[in-house]
Amino acid sequence: MSQATQDVREDGIIESVSGPVVQAVDLDARMNDVVYVGDEGLMGEVIEIEGDITTIQVYEETSGVGPGEPVENTGEPLTVDLGPGLLDSIYDGVQRPLDVLESKMNSAFLDRGVDAPGIDLEKEWAFEPTVEVGDEVESGDVVGVVEETVSIDHKVLVPPGSEGGVVEAAEAGDFNVEEAVVTLDSGEEITMHQEWPVRQARPSVEKQTPTEPLVSGQRILDGLFPIAKGGTAAIPGPFGSGKTVTQHQLAKWADADIVVYVGCGERGNEMTEVIEDFPELDDPKTGNPLMARTSLIANTSNMPVAARESCVYTGITIAEFYRDMGYDVALMADSTSRWAEAMREISSRLEEMPGEEGYPAYLSARLSQFYERAGYFENINGTEGSISVIGAVSPPGGDFSEPVTQNTLRIVKCFWALDADLAERRHFPSINWNESYSLYREQLDPWFQDNVTDEWSEIRQWAVDTLDEEAELQEIVQLVGKDALPEDQQLTLEVARYLREAYLQQNAFHPTDTYCEPAKTYGILTAIKKFNDEAFDALGAGVPVPEITAIEAAPRLNRIGVQEDWEEYIEELKDDLASQLREKY
Ligand code: ADP
Repeated sequence: MSQATQDVREDGIIESVSGPVVQAVDLDARMNDVVYVGDEGLMGEVIEIEGDITTIQVYEETSGVGPGEPVENTGEPLTVDLGPGLLDSIYDGVQRPLDVLESKMNSAFLDRGVDAPGIDLEKEWAFEPTVEVGDEVESGDVVGVVEETVSIDHKVLVPPGSEGGVVEAAEAGDFNVEEAVVTLDSGEEITMHQEWPVRQARPSVEKQTPTEPLVSGQRILDGLFPIAKGGTAAIPGPFGSGKTVTQHQLAKWADADIVVYVGCGERGNEMTEVIEDFPELDDPKTGNPLMARTSLIANTSNMPVAARESCVYTGITIAEFYRDMGYDVALMADSTSRWAEAMREISSRLEEMPGEEGYPAYLSARLSQFYERAGYFENINGTEGSISVIGAVSPPGGDFSEPVTQNTLRIVKCFWALDADLAERRHFPSINWNESYSLYREQLDPWFQDNVTDEWSEIRQWAVDTLDEEAELQEIVQLVGKDALPEDQQLTLEVARYLREAYLQQNAFHPTDTYCEPAKTYGILTAIKKFNDEAFDALGAGVPVPEITAIEAAPRLNRIGVQEDWEEYIEELKDDLASQLREKY
């Protein structure tokens, strides 16, 4: 986060302190100005101005800070530092790098008044210009490239708002982020370092209707509830239902170039796990560390509540910066409930009129402002880039009727409902197929039809119908038992069981099953459908259900997921299903 030192305005005086909320008098400030509070200079942001009273949310622990101490206004909004070095970094909610913080203090969470730039201002990067002297450039244009990590080339952009001009100097060489890499005839010097106010979306030409899926390699998602590149999804689920595993799977496997992971105030030790786990993860596609294309923002709940409020904005601004380079970015926020709770706490300190369950009335507006920054964009430099946002929600007690889940549902277009019962039965991923939905399904069908198979939507519909029918039949079975059902319905239940076990279940920890390409996702469905068709033919020819279900080939359906040579395996299995059933009549 930038420390704006110029243009310092008149100081104010603290009048009162209530946790993260401080009121000052005599401060000449505007909304959202960053201020330094108290003798220790704690970072805060102006969130309300009424007459002579300025209310500030402070991003650090305020105990010991008292009335009479000074407040210094920077006159600048809360910004993030953008430039090479964002990837492979771990930040707190106001973009202070955790490793720098740790080296400056004894423990990651204790000291105060420590500030650090979001990117290393001294480190040199090997800059390669992509423009020549005499070229004309405009705001947003790419003027050069540096290898940010083994995985990602960082495009150096003319900052938004620049007048542009003709390139007067552009040379390859080693530069730090504050040195000019390109000079324009206007005298403007372009550096690799940009600053951007977190609460304001970076400019783009337009948002387009997304038509490509963010392929996740997770069968239930790609097959039944796909998210688009540039789409929004919510994963609500109680503790232990698989939110973290699902988010990790998406971070690892989704076909995004860049991952921004915002760990927002889960219990302290859980976040520590993320901080420890993420750097260990490999990027399965390249073998490089996953962090080489990841920026991680980690706010534990023992960090001050206001820093939690800001962490999602810091994350999405970083995402927009890579979008501007033409990358597909996936942002995971885990969990948006903790973010909303931070809002609630600050709102109650401000003594605002509470809305539902004590959340502020603007909860839904804030959520939608955040999710609105997702999308498939035409950038101002003419490239296309996307930001997909996947927010975990942790409803207390798993009750989806609470305000954060309900407000999120009104905004996002995919709902992946995690289910504690499924998790308890070890059905993973425990995404409830009856409750979940994706509003991108039809809009993404053409892509799947062009890139995977013409039959994509047809066979999916068959699977959905079969699972729906199973849900209805299960209600009857609960009352009268399975044997009371007519034979064709018993057979439907058997087919649905294979849909659940062979298709919907997927083991994140199995080296092969962990990722399922769309063609394989489709292949598994064709095998189950084959069993269905052959089984119903056999039933029609008078073969009793127990004999049909007892064939040797049927349980082999459940092992397709773990096969590397799945195409051969499926072909052979289909032949065996047919011959073993046909031989019965
Ligand atoms: P949450 O974040 O919702 O509290 P986790 O993501 O930590 O839950 O999941 C809890 C446990 O469930 C994991 O430790 C793992 O054993 C199991 N699990 C969740 N998803 C999967 C999956 N896709 N495949 C295998 N096991 C899973």
